[in-house]
Amino acid sequence: MNRVGKSEYLNFVNGEWVSSHTEDTYTVINPATGGTIAAVPQSDLQDTRAAIDAARAAFDKGKWPRMTPGDRAAALFKLANLIEADMDRLAPLESQNQGKTIKQARDGDLPFSVDNLRFMAGASRTLTGQASMEYAYGATSVIRREPIGVIGQITPWNYPFMMAIWKLAPALAAGNTAVLKPASLTPLTTLELGKLIEAAGIPAGTVNLITGPGAVVGNELASSDKVDMVSLTGDTATGKEIMKAATSNVKKLHLELGGKAPFVVFEDANIAAAAEGAVAASMVNGGQDCTQAARFIVQDRVYKKFQDKFVERLKTVRMGDPLQRSTDLGPLVSSKQREKVEDYVEIGSDEGAKLALGGQRPKGKAFEKGWYYEPTAFVDTDPSMRIAREEVFGPVVNVQKFSDEAEAIEAANDVVYGLYSSVWTKDVQRAHRVANALRFGAVEINEHLPIVSEMPHGGFKQSGFGKDLSVYSLEEYTQIKHVFIDLTDAVRKPWHYITFGDPT
Ligand code: NAD
Repeated sequence: MNRVGKSEYLNFVNGEWVSSHTEDTYTVINPATGGTIAAVPQSDLQDTRAAIDAARAAFDKGKWPRMTPGDRAAALFKLANLIEADMDRLAPLESQNQGKTIKQARDGDLPFSVDNLRFMAGASRTLTGQASMEYAYGATSVIRREPIGVIGQITPWNYPFMMAIWKLAPALAAGNTAVLKPASLTPLTTLELGKLIEAAGIPAGTVNLITGPGAVVGNELASSDKVDMVSLTGDTATGKEIMKAATSNVKKLHLELGGKAPFVVFEDANIAAAAEGAVAASMVNGGQDCTQAARFIVQDRVYKKFQDKFVERLKTVRMGDPLQRSTDLGPLVSSKQREKVEDYVEIGSDEGAKLALGGQRPKGKAFEKGWYYEPTAFVDTDPSMRIAREEVFGPVVNVQKFSDEAEAIEAANDVVYGLYSSVWTKDVQRAHRVANALRFGAVEINEHLPIVSEMPHGGFKQSGFGKDLSVYSLEEYTQIKHVFIDLTDAVRKPWHYITFGDPT
């Protein structure tokens, strides 16, 4: 554990900025330089429990769950405006902490987060149970949609700010309170978000932000009896750990886990458009994206043509300082992540996959300090290879061949993941047939990346369950209550179909 003196950043608990009770901190690194950029609290169980207690009290007795949807929406719109006004400061911080390009942070993640928050603010006013109905003679029913309670939220390091918003916006819109733990590598913009939450006047204890190890802070959020639901975006292995921990009080789960997206190209596709889409879909966020197109499954008659165009375009990707607007690809998030990528490249080579591009760290002074890795393409891979089945989470892809539709579907589905996929064809019947047969939470036709606030996002199979974005995500953070009201004054009610002796 590092002790670098008083934290520059603090936890946000019950409306106050506090260090860990031990005052321990850990350092946060800039992946482009390897230099230290901040220290944040190394929270422990006691700190986590204090944050959970704050959220519990705020839910059980506080203002937020009791405010009208209109007033909650107003506070969330105010927060969205504050974020929007601060994007020029938040974007470089996100880039320095995560390694993503400034283009991605400033033009993508931040405006999308603002839009998602505005979507959820508006949608909070549409939440409704069913209308009252008489389902039994002499009685009426009211079906209410209520918040769940205290939500434990655990985010990954690839989209730190955006994931915090994807979790907090629907949870708050529905009237819950939350304790959110950002990924240890990338906590800074989440803590900055806390300052804006405070400025927006969201009541103390409604949102609590706490940094520290997943195995301690995250595990307590998953296992505490005072937490009603836990939502994780992270690795499938972490999701399995959380499922076990959450059995303590049978909490509701929302898991957005790993992916290994197929990108299926049929012979009638526009190959130039597919190759262009392939570059963006595979190199987005340095390939550290759960929807990243990682498996290019291409029909034999256009295999060579697609591969040549794709590899040629990958060669033009500009790697460098993520703070420069001309940069397309920054460093990986950590030295550990680069080692993982390097291990997979070695595995792919050992399995007999042919390296068509990359496969090494870039050379030159500009890349000496950061955790850079070249765009890398394996070709002629086989669906049985580990490089074609396991999540690498870096700028590494593989290209494989198929001959007919059935083979393409089988290869695309033949992984444990089921998050994102795309199909490239001009044949509308085939597009629908294949989309229906793919076991993925999203299928895009002749595109791979587009995602906006109205579109539900979430996995099938071991990519998890529960949706982010859209009204489906808002509903995830609610539960249905049935209220039964007797409208009669009768002693023996019409619905007493089982009777017990004679009433007096
Ligand atoms: P990770 O699972 O290592 O960490 C995610 C979070 O879980 C971190 O905050 C971490 O501290 C915490 N954590 C770790 N162990 C824990 C435990 N035992 N109990 C509770 N919390 C624990 O994932 P990562 O490396 O930060 O992110 C990359 C992964 O996230 C990839 O697998 C990627 O596919 C996935 N991801 C999925 C989506 C999606 O929408 N499905 C989006 C982004 C990232």
